[in-house]
Amino acid sequence: MGKRVFKAETKQLLDLMINSIYTNREIFLRELISNASDAIDKLKFKSLTETSLSENTGEPEIRIEIDRETKTLKISDNGIGMSYDEAIDNIGTIAKSGSKEFFDKLKNSDEKSAQELIGQFGVGFYSAFMVAEKVRIKTRSAFEKESEGVIWESAGDGNYNIDKTELGKPGTEITLFLKEDAVKEHDLLSPYAIEELVSKYSDYIRYPIKMEVETTLPEEKDETGKITKEKEIVIEDKTLNSMKPIWQKEKSDVKDEEYKEFYRHAFHAYDDPVDIIHTKGEGTVEYKALIFIPGMIPFNFYSSHYERGMKLYSKQVFIMEKCKELVPEYLGFIKGVVDSPDFSLNISREILQHSSQLKIIAKNLEKKVLGTLKYMLENDREKYVKFWTEFGKAIKAGIYSDFGANKEKLQDLLLFESSYDDGLTTLAEYVKRMPEGQKEIYYAAGKDKTSLKNIPQMESVFDKGYEVLFFTDKIDEFASAVLISYQDKPLKNISASDLDLESEDEKKEKEEKRKAIEEESKSLLETLKEHLKDEVKDIRLSSRLKNSAVCLVSGSDGISINMEQVLSEASMSDMPPPKASRILEINPDHKVFATLNNIYSKDPGSTKLKDYAQVLYNQALLIEGIIPKDPGKFASLVSELISDVSV
Ligand code: ADP
Repeated sequence: MGKRVFKAETKQLLDLMINSIYTNREIFLRELISNASDAIDKLKFKSLTETSLSENTGEPEIRIEIDRETKTLKISDNGIGMSYDEAIDNIGTIAKSGSKEFFDKLKNSDEKSAQELIGQFGVGFYSAFMVAEKVRIKTRSAFEKESEGVIWESAGDGNYNIDKTELGKPGTEITLFLKEDAVKEHDLLSPYAIEELVSKYSDYIRYPIKMEVETTLPEEKDETGKITKEKEIVIEDKTLNSMKPIWQKEKSDVKDEEYKEFYRHAFHAYDDPVDIIHTKGEGTVEYKALIFIPGMIPFNFYSSHYERGMKLYSKQVFIMEKCKELVPEYLGFIKGVVDSPDFSLNISREILQHSSQLKIIAKNLEKKVLGTLKYMLENDREKYVKFWTEFGKAIKAGIYSDFGANKEKLQDLLLFESSYDDGLTTLAEYVKRMPEGQKEIYYAAGKDKTSLKNIPQMESVFDKGYEVLFFTDKIDEFASAVLISYQDKPLKNISASDLDLESEDEKKEKEEKRKAIEEESKSLLETLKEHLKDEVKDIRLSSRLKNSAVCLVSGSDGISINMEQVLSEASMSDMPPPKASRILEINPDHKVFATLNNIYSKDPGSTKLKDYAQVLYNQALLIEGIIPKDPGKFASLVSELISDVSV
């Protein structure tokens, strides 16, 4: 009886609690409510086998009382309670493994991170000392037949007093004698502030958390407007928590509208989710999860302020707002809740990061989301396209990131615009449509489908009857560079210098013809190359053009022209972005080529050749959607050309 000292570790922990400056001490209430809820759980569980237990306890409830006079806050429950010995064991010692692990971590961290650890996560009961200068526990075990209870009291100074006392009912009542500064900081004597804390941290506790609140009943009037009853202030019991964790319910018991209501409320959303996944895990890890795929991209999704993650609960008690370890970066847009009894409330972010349970849950959820998307793509294309329009970029970024580690998982979720029709196509659909003999998946990269459809490089591909994908998102070509191929079919830019569409025989025949003309026009090509030496790496005769005079292609030794453009737009440093090597291809069957030959044969030194080389190069740039370096000069050259034409 009487005065005792805390076990050594407990005392150290208390010192840390009391002497540190806390960033988030409001969590004490969550911790105490959670203990109360556990105590009721335990009683319920025990009374399944020991019928005498439940006699004296009544309906389970957790009660909060505010006393402004004494500046105290009381949290009581009618749960299992504690006997004298249990109070010594449970409260005087850090016994539970979760707390122990946490404490070991705490001892090894420097003071600043220790503060952070405690401040953010609390350590169960002891967090009461963050806001209280004295804590009194009155408790009576539900196993005690007589009214034998315990009173425990401590100022957190290393000692505590414990005595036996008369208590009418089993259960636990914890009185916090609040610190002045804690009251000020968190307004702890205001019913409103307490209500807020409960709804923030303990809304889903499955027992009612009750508090007496003052309500003003309005005055009553008769038909003549005469007041028949003055307004009245009454004190009523109010249940502060909703007690309804939607994720704990069976899917069949939840209406679609309920899910949507929860989504909007819990995530401050205005849209309707595109899809909802309600799932659970049993076995190695136990969890319930509710995942929402939003209907709209969050406005700050691509900013550095955006934080991904799921809300994490343990047995319906809130642990963390955004547990990012549960969501791979490329699925950063999903919202949801994970509730797993495998996590202790006191778990720190650091321990979480290394938790193998968390990794297993994250893997399962990732699989679920990807499976849901795949199902949506296959069975509800319209819905999937809606999703894709909002989040397709994120999925493509997923292919690109982590050195392509996710490409296998994600490649079948990709959609692209295509020359096939006005819709969007998957790579699998493209491959299925490939005619015999087509070995590669062709794409054109640029700003939009309309202009890409008309680029000269398209001519020979269309001529072959091949379909072309349109990469109009900046990230597309980068993602495809990581993807490399799909179903063993390489992805090929139709503007690549080494585009190879012909069969061996065709190639041979064409090549010979081209070589012959090239031989004939060798000195003309050399002259043109000299005129454009600052702009292009090479000039050569084209075998891909039909109706157009020229086009630009990218050398195979670097990035494409489109990538160069994207990188230069994105570049914010002083370093010049990497350059694509440009090759100007001229169509030997075009009249332009004959004209050039004509001028050259009359006067190899003609200044016109220089001007025309510029016009052709700039024209090829424009086709790529690139503005010529000197648009004024280009315009005047074109005007001159038109004036030259004899009508
Ligand atoms: P944890 O809840 O992680 O075990 P705490 O420090 O919060 O750690 O509590 C220590 C122990 O004290 C609990 O495990 C429980 O046995 C006991 N305890 C705390 N609060 C109550 C309560 N309201 N009713 C009964 N037992 C309690």
